Amino acid sequence: MTAPPIAADAAATTIPFFPPDLFDGDREALLDAVRAIGTGTAQKFILGEHTAALERALRSRLTAATAGAAGDVVACSSGTSALSLLLAAMDIGPGDEVVVPAFGCAPLAATVLDAGARPVFADIDPLRLTIDPAAAEALIGPRTRALLPAHMFSVMADMPAFRDLADRYGLRLIEDSALAQGGTLRGRPAGCWGDAGVYSFVQVKTFGMPGEGGVAITRDAELGEAVRMLRNHGQDGAHRFVHHRVGHNSRFDEVMALFQLHRLPGLDGRLARRAEISAYYSRRFAPLADRGLVAPPVGGDGRFHYVYTVLTDRRDELRDHLAARGIASHVYYPRPLPAQPAFAPHAAAGPGAGWPNAASAARRNLSLPLYPHLTDAQAEHIADAVHAFADTYICTDTNRER
Ligand SMILES: *Cc1c(COP(=O)(O)O)cnc(C)c1O
Repeated sequence: MTAPPIAADAAATTIPFFPPDLFDGDREALLDAVRAIGTGTAQKFILGEHTAALERALRSRLTAATAGAAGDVVACSSGTSALSLLLAAMDIGPGDEVVVPAFGCAPLAATVLDAGARPVFADIDPLRLTIDPAAAEALIGPRTRALLPAHMFSVMADMPAFRDLADRYGLRLIEDSALAQGGTLRGRPAGCWGDAGVYSFVQVKTFGMPGEGGVAITRDAELGEAVRMLRNHGQDGAHRFVHHRVGHNSRFDEVMALFQLHRLPGLDGRLARRAEISAYYSRRFAPLADRGLVAPPVGGDGRFHYVYTVLTDRRDELRDHLAARGIASHVYYPRPLPAQPAFAPHAAAGPGAGWPNAASAARRNLSLPLYPHLTDAQAEHIADAVHAFADTYICTDTNRER
């Protein structure tokens, strides 16, 4: 079967993967924030009252969602930095090992190495694409100090299993929930399953902003206090120039805090629109499983809607097919972490060890456009194009084996 002809205007319409107009509706608010901070009498540009207000606002959202003890939310300069601050606050360093996924973003390995510890790479679950708890358990040894699972694309890691592992082996549990803000599993928000979690506010994330920033989240008050100190050169809030610990510079910008406070009331609406588009894709793609296209696991629990990622052996062909129809798509993490030049020397794979599921995901993943202002017509055009591609699938014996 050949793909139906595409109307010339549809093909010419480019649907970007990273839309440049994410903040078009908030330009005035951004300029107002710059003006307010820039002309304010306090001339306080970092870690001021607006950063504190943003931390309180995020904390009360999480407290409401967990109906639990008030935790701490500490704003810092990025999601990556939040991970580094947590590792430092937990005194994880030379001689220690942290079990991380073999598939994911560089900070999972880089922050551990920066701390002086060693990342130990565990393979992932082939469908969830998140770290496999059994693989992680097999790597726990006498030097293991922490587990660092990460949520991927739109699926939360199996946090109940990791909570159980951490408790059984007496390990720290750091949840890389950088991209999962808005997700919940068994009623508990992403970021609230570990001893600590993180969110990133880099532009494309679900609560992204036009700049760098993030938060560390923890219900452990002592840990929160340590992160607060570490983000500002190890000083406590009351005494400048008293450095209790060797700290970092990982502070939050007041302009961005004001802007995020402006954007926060709209977050749930934007998350709901992402969920709606994602559910539409899932309905359209369900019949394509036997035509070589694997959609994310269905079911709302433990799903969030950052990007929509499919798996196919013909990934590069699908990307070209979509591009020819004016649809941009994106390949995340085309190499597993242990195969990266920077991390390979630290990835001691014993005989027979390897990360076959990570390698497969790296070869087969493709993410489709998913953002709140994607129109219904655009989502339909994307789903139609994917269908047209799947219709060209020939079920050979080789394909059948996969
Ligand atoms: C985005 C991301 C990070 C890093 O966040 P930054 O704010 O870009 O430093 C870390 N982990 C995961 C899983 C991410 O998606």
